[in-house]
Amino acid sequence: MAVDLHLHSTISDGQHTPEQLVDLAVAAGLGTMALTDHDTFEGIARARAAAAGRIDLIPGCEMSIEWPDGTFHLLGYWVDAGTDLDEALRPIRHGRETRNRAILAALADLGVPVDEDRVSEISGEGVIGRPHIAQALMEAGHVETPDEAFSRFLSRGALAYRQRPRIPLDTTVDLVHRAGGVAVVAHPATVASSAAEYREAFARFADAGIDGVECWYSTYSSELRQDLAILAERHGLVATGGSDHHGEIRKPGIDVGVGKGDLVVPDEVVERLAARRP
Ligand code: AMP
Ligand code: FE
Ligand code: FE
Ligand code: ZN
Repeated sequence: MAVDLHLHSTISDGQHTPEQLVDLAVAAGLGTMALTDHDTFEGIARARAAAAGRIDLIPGCEMSIEWPDGTFHLLGYWVDAGTDLDEALRPIRHGRETRNRAILAALADLGVPVDEDRVSEISGEGVIGRPHIAQALMEAGHVETPDEAFSRFLSRGALAYRQRPRIPLDTTVDLVHRAGGVAVVAHPATVASSAAEYREAFARFADAGIDGVECWYSTYSSELRQDLAILAERHGLVATGGSDHHGEIRKPGIDVGVGKGDLVVPDEVVERLAARRP
């Protein structure tokens, strides 16, 4: 049975509720799924309840990490609400609100205003992020697609980009382990592009006590997935994977379990990750 270890719900910037995601994962024939909303565990209890007796649920989250060359995303697995990690993410969640307001102010200055209340409405429950602002820009007719919203206004380096607080790598890995979980680098193409850069990055991940790297990723070519998996194993890191499904509106063409149709994350990944739990 295949697994999907990277899924976003309405609690962060996904389109489906935790319950709907469980239904989609069951329908896709998966044996295990991980809910990995950004910076929050608010959806875990609901996903767990929906999953009971139908599919194994790994409680998780995705965090933005401070890294010497910028930032990358770290997935925590077997981590949950009520832990010191959850507590450490509280100021990060709060920092989103300040950052979001700064983005909205910048957009207004640029002559492409969006309504703060509408952004909240689009987001619904849970944390608010740039994808919700992108959708508001689209609704207001300022852009045609979410991609255009990001490239013109919201991406790092774009006109209304504002940085939000991030959590340092060493602290985060330690908090994840103390919560009984494992730490996995998400979509590593964000930190490297050449073979030499990947080698250097993976060595640093292993040194930092990270447990795995997401190699089977929806948007990566089969060659890249294979190369990353070999490199991960060479550094003692578990090669893992997931779709990073957000739903059709936010990330079109990426389905639960299968990504663009060719993603298969083998289920032994789960056992190998579980074996690394402290
Ligand atoms: P935030 O966490 O609010 O800083 O927003 C980051 C999120 O925006 C990521 O987790 C992605 O889901 C989404 N994102 C980043 N770049 C793009 C893009 N070019 N198109 C659509 N969504 C994006
Ligand atoms: Fe996201
Ligand atoms: Fe991510
Ligand atoms: Zn993600």
